[in-house]
Amino acid sequence: PEIVKTFESIEKGSGKQLEQFMAEAKSNYDIAIKDLVYRPGESPLELITLETAKKVNQFFSNIKKDVRKRFKNMKLVQILEFPVLFLGAKPSDTPSFYNFMNFADFGLGTWHPKNGMYSVILAMETLAKELGVKIETNANVQKIEVSAGKATGLLVNNKIVIADVILSGADYHHSETLLDKKYRQYSEVYWENKTFAPSSLLFYVGFDKKIENVEHHSLFFDVDFDIHAEAIYDNPKWPEEPLFYASFPSKTDENSAPKGNEAGIFLIPLAPGLEDTNELRELYFEKIITRLEQLTNQSVKNNIIFKESFCVKDFVKEYNSYKGNAYGMANTLLQTAFLRPKLKSKKVQNLYFTGQLTVPGPGVPPSLISGKLVADLIKKYQ
Ligand SMILES: Cc1cc2nc3c(=O)[nH]c(=O)nc-3n(C[C@H](O)[C@H](O)[C@H](O)COP(=O)(O)OP(=O)(O)OC[C@H]3O[C@@H](n4cnc5c(N)ncnc54)[C@H](O)[C@@H]3O)c2cc1C
Repeated sequence: PEIVKTFESIEKGSGKQLEQFMAEAKSNYDIAIKDLVYRPGESPLELITLETAKKVNQFFSNIKKDVRKRFKNMKLVQILEFPVLFLGAKPSDTPSFYNFMNFADFGLGTWHPKNGMYSVILAMETLAKELGVKIETNANVQKIEVSAGKATGLLVNNKIVIADVILSGADYHHSETLLDKKYRQYSEVYWENKTFAPSSLLFYVGFDKKIENVEHHSLFFDVDFDIHAEAIYDNPKWPEEPLFYASFPSKTDENSAPKGNEAGIFLIPLAPGLEDTNELRELYFEKIITRLEQLTNQSVKNNIIFKESFCVKDFVKEYNSYKGNAYGMANTLLQTAFLRPKLKSKKVQNLYFTGQLTVPGPGVPPSLISGKLVADLIKKYQ
């Protein structure tokens, strides 16, 4: 109700519009999250259900059209168009159906695991160990060994590990490069023609004081969203005036910075595959930190006691991610469900893939669901 009130105060009639928009978004959320994401993308028929049949037009319209039909004020438009950027495509290329992202943001709200995302990983590790999983780290897979169409093992740190079934959760493109060419399903041209989710320039910054006038999550929307989106998707280049997201977890989680200090994470979405140099990173840090100072009315540059950056080159080096993408392959209409790279290899009988480049798509929850889907397929076929 508070968001509805705020909308109404900015544009008359927009409160009611928001309620209608969210009702629609909730209904899509229920269909998508409770049902569709749990389908393994083996066949187009999986998508045809009583519910989706009623909503078929929503796969052929897009978020931009829908939002702008209801709202005129550009601030409101941007707030509603922004969440889908994380699905990896422009609002004009994202089917209306995906407005469930708005419901996730506005309806369900935002949740923060105590001590940050890494505590989720630690919890998963504990669960896996309880179930008897043996985890090996610092184990770079160099090759997937195949004999007569059947995977036999992995080359890891120059040693062969024998396997009955192989499941790769690494970047799909990279995983296929670990195979001899004849066993790869998708060509370089195939990947080249796909729309990838953005990469990012990230800064992890420690301040020796509290930062004022910001929230745990702050989006800096003071420049044109469309121009930045064009620089990501249409004409890949460094955006002149970037939008950026800033997170100050120490606003709500006291464990994320010493008392009286603040932890800040800054993210600029970028096209994958861009040139990435220290000079460019610094130039962009200067741009955003100056804007932060101006817009929040304080000086912070002299209070930085720690700073690290992460960008395209690091995504390639640390994750082997295709062109340094940060969250996989976009969910455009032609890259949805059965049209995405498959969970089960068509060329190697006991080889499977999971994660953000396959079904259902980018993001932590979809990647986890992808793991469940592939586990079911392995049970079905092996
Ligand atoms: C800055 C940023 C912000 C994000 N924010 C959100 C958000 O708010 N909400 C959300 O839902 N999602 C968010 N995401 C996206 C989300 O993190 C990803 O979609 C998700 O983690 C992908 O999971 P995955 O299992 O497919 O891949 P990953 O988590 O990348 O796992 C793949 C693993 O494979 C390893 N690997 C690669 N090659 C090899 C090899 N040869 N041998 C051995 N191991 C290898 C990698 O090191 C990596 O550990 C964000 C991503 C980024 C980068």
